Amino acid sequence: MTNNFISKERNKLKYFVGNWKMFGDLDSFKIIKRIRQFYIKFRTSDKKNKIILCVPNTLIGFYKKKLNSKIILLGAQNCSQHKNYGAFTGSVSALMLKKAGAEFIILGHSENRMEGETSQLIKRKIKSALSENLNVIFCIGETASEKKGGKTLPVLYNQLKNSIDKKFDLNKIIFAYEPVWSIGTGKTPHMRYLQKITMYIKHFFKTKKYINVLYGGSVNDKNIKEFSKLAPFMDGFLIGGASQSSKKFIDIIKNYYK
Ligand code: PGA
Repeated sequence: MTNNFISKERNKLKYFVGNWKMFGDLDSFKIIKRIRQFYIKFRTSDKKNKIILCVPNTLIGFYKKKLNSKIILLGAQNCSQHKNYGAFTGSVSALMLKKAGAEFIILGHSENRMEGETSQLIKRKIKSALSENLNVIFCIGETASEKKGGKTLPVLYNQLKNSIDKKFDLNKIIFAYEPVWSIGTGKTPHMRYLQKITMYIKHFFKTKKYINVLYGGSVNDKNIKEFSKLAPFMDGFLIGGASQSSKKFIDIIKNYYK
C-alpha cells in the first residue's frame, strides 16, 4: 500500500514534508489538526500533493490514532540499523516505527551525521527501513566549507554512492537535498545552483525510474514563491522549523500555489 505514495508521474505530485526535530508533545496534536482542517478545504484534483509530518517517535502512535485518516501521513526521523528486537538500549527499529503508524522515515539528516552517523551506517538504516516497506526520505548535502572549496558535487557523489545500494528500490526513496549551511540559518541557495544540484541527483542513478528530489533548508512562507519557480524539477520540500507552526506550514503551502 505504501508504494502508491511516491510519485511516478513527472512533475505532478508535490511533497510538503515537516521535520519537527526534537519538538512536540501530546498537546501539539492541535498543530496537525489545524493543518488537516486547512488541507481538507484546500486540496483539489489539480493540486496533487502529499503532506507528511515526521514527528518524534513518542508521538507517532498517539497521533496515528487521533488522525484516523489518510489525508496527512506520519513519518519518523531516524531508526536503528538493527532489524530485529534485541539488546539495543534506547534504540527503535524501523519495524517498531511502522507498527506505531509511520509510513515514511527521514534518514541521513545532517544533524544525525554530525553526531557520528557515517554513510555506511545510514545505508544499513535505509536497508532496514526498506525491508519494512517504509518510504525513506534520504537527506544529503554539503557543509559551508565544502561548498566554499567547490566540493559540493564530490560530497553528494559520496553520500549517494556510499548509502544507496544498487539493490534498493528507488521507488521507495525520496531524496532531500539539504545543504548543511542552509539548515536553520535563513540562508538559501540560488535557484540556478539548486536546479543544477537537483538535476545531478535526478540523473545520478542512470535509471528510467522517476527520482523524487526535495529541497530542505530554511524554507519559509516568504521564500517558497521563489522555490516554486523550480516546480518542473523540484518535487517538494522538507521543512524544519516552520513546520512546528500550523500557520507557517499552511502559509508555505498556500504561497507555493499562489
Ligand atoms: P529548517 O530545517 O527548515 O529549519 O532549516 C530543515 C531540516 O532540518 O530538515
